[in-house]
Amino acid sequence: MMNEEKALTAVIYSAVEPSEEQKARFGQFLKNKYGTEMPLEWERTDAFPGGFRLEVGSDIYDWSVGGRFRQLRDTLVKVPTNNGNIIPLLKESISTWTPEAMAEQVGEVLTVGDGIATVGGLPQATFGEILLFADGVRGMVQDIRRDEIGCVLFSDDESVTQGSSVKRTGKTAGTPVGEAFLGRVVDSLGSPVDGLGEIEASGYMPVEAQAPPIIDRQPVDTPLETGIFSIDSMFPIGRGQRELIIGDRQTGKTAIAVDAIINQKGKDCICIYVAIGQKNSSVVQIQQTLKKHDALDYTIIVTASASEPAPLQYIAPYAGCAMGEYFMRKGKDVLIVYDDLSKHAVAYRALSLLLDRSPGREAYPGDVFYLHSRLLERAARLSDEIGGGSITALPIVETQAGDVSAYIPTNIISITDGQIFLESDLFFAGQRPAVNVGLSVSRVGGDAQTKAMKKAAGTLRIDLAQYREMEVFTQFASDLDDQTRAQLEYGQGLMRMLRQKQYRPKSQHEQVITLVMALAHTMQGIETDKVPAFIEGLIEHFETEHADICSRIDTTGKLDDDLKQDILDISAKYREKF
Ligand code: ATP
Ligand code: MG
Repeated sequence: MMNEEKALTAVIYSAVEPSEEQKARFGQFLKNKYGTEMPLEWERTDAFPGGFRLEVGSDIYDWSVGGRFRQLRDTLVKVPTNNGNIIPLLKESISTWTPEAMAEQVGEVLTVGDGIATVGGLPQATFGEILLFADGVRGMVQDIRRDEIGCVLFSDDESVTQGSSVKRTGKTAGTPVGEAFLGRVVDSLGSPVDGLGEIEASGYMPVEAQAPPIIDRQPVDTPLETGIFSIDSMFPIGRGQRELIIGDRQTGKTAIAVDAIINQKGKDCICIYVAIGQKNSSVVQIQQTLKKHDALDYTIIVTASASEPAPLQYIAPYAGCAMGEYFMRKGKDVLIVYDDLSKHAVAYRALSLLLDRSPGREAYPGDVFYLHSRLLERAARLSDEIGGGSITALPIVETQAGDVSAYIPTNIISITDGQIFLESDLFFAGQRPAVNVGLSVSRVGGDAQTKAMKKAAGTLRIDLAQYREMEVFTQFASDLDDQTRAQLEYGQGLMRMLRQKQYRPKSQHEQVITLVMALAHTMQGIETDKVPAFIEGLIEHFETEHADICSRIDTTGKLDDDLKQDILDISAKYREKF
């Protein structure tokens, strides 16, 4: 019946029948625990030598030798191992240990397959709780129904069979965190996968955490320089911001994120790269790239590759975020990249369909929006009272044929503070990074730009917009007047200026000087193909002959009129000799 609780029966298992006095003690124990009298049965068994085992519904009290031994083992496992000599600690734990009447709640596997197990007999299990299956396989409760719960398994389901037992742990999924994770590659549960040995954690944090409340936040006002010219000048990103990188496959999305990480060298910013559903070979390549550019020391790579079970891919970004939160709470700045959330949504869809949830738009479950919003809301800039740390998030989304109105892209566009839109056509035309200036936007980063950059970038976006219009307009014109031709040339020069090789982040002074010079039409008359050589030479000239100007821009972040005029004069002179 729906509302009628099943009457509980207590069963004692032991080799020898308990005496009347012992039975009375059991009765008293049960009455204290459950507040009601209940029938007590006895069953003979040799399975639990050296004591009794009492089962009440799904609660199990094991006073047999085996049960007490397991309890002692669980206590010893919890002894902290990170402070050198553990022998005295072990001694103390053992001498103070007394067995307790602790209930273990044990249920039973009803069905298992495709990484999902349905479990009966654990009515008190909570959503997100970790369950322990046979052979140490762990799973997470993802679906709660009246008589059974759906649980996703974190590893192979081979040892989990129908009828095998399942134990509650009372804990939600979490990940070890700490400084020792820097420079390492770990899986979604925080275990190392780079073969460099154990990682000594400083703490343990839940993978699903509440986003910081409004009162704990402060506005985004400090730049997070990516070193990518087109982004820093036109779509600046601030610490604590969420900026989406979106584009078709193979348009340089990952490259932008990796360059942004490389650019954090010496800027006191921890980076976390979360690879979801990627090939293992790509992840190794990124690890090596970061290492080559001395960027691995301040970076953690969290990976749930395409071959991992969907549940691991599903929790990977939350685990990465938890690792970032550890540093944010310590007042540090963190940059986290989720590469990519389209594959994350696909993993979640697979998992939900296996759990028999009804599919919605594009067969994604109805809560896929909430899935990503609760992840991205955890990016924040904390107020100074609680340390002033931040998490800046760069989620990546893959589009199909540039369609930003598909379900997952629209969702994530609406949750983030702007997007860098990468376009295949630009990419194949050699315009790399292939940032579409018209469709990209950064909604809060403007406040975070340095004054120098803001002043220098001035009319860049408008000039480029005019150029694009004119380009379309004059596409079929045969002869152009001089002014139009000059304008087209100017626009082409700017576009060429924004091209940037991979792994070559540009410093502040490099960007500011280039912008000031180019927007004053200094490059007029230089063949488009020679623009890169001109800019390179000019910057070198500044760095060798006018190092004071460079360092003034880098340290003050300001560009007063005198400084601007100096840059213009020096550039004009250099232009004459070019
Ligand atoms: P996928 O959809 O497969 O994840 P992606 O959008 O992440 O692809 P990347 O892997 O970053 O794209 O880049 C695709 C290719 O383009 C890579 O070979 C990369 O080296 C090259 N590439 C990216 N950016 C640039 C650049 N600025 N200059 C030259 N080559 C680039
Ligand atoms: Mg990629």
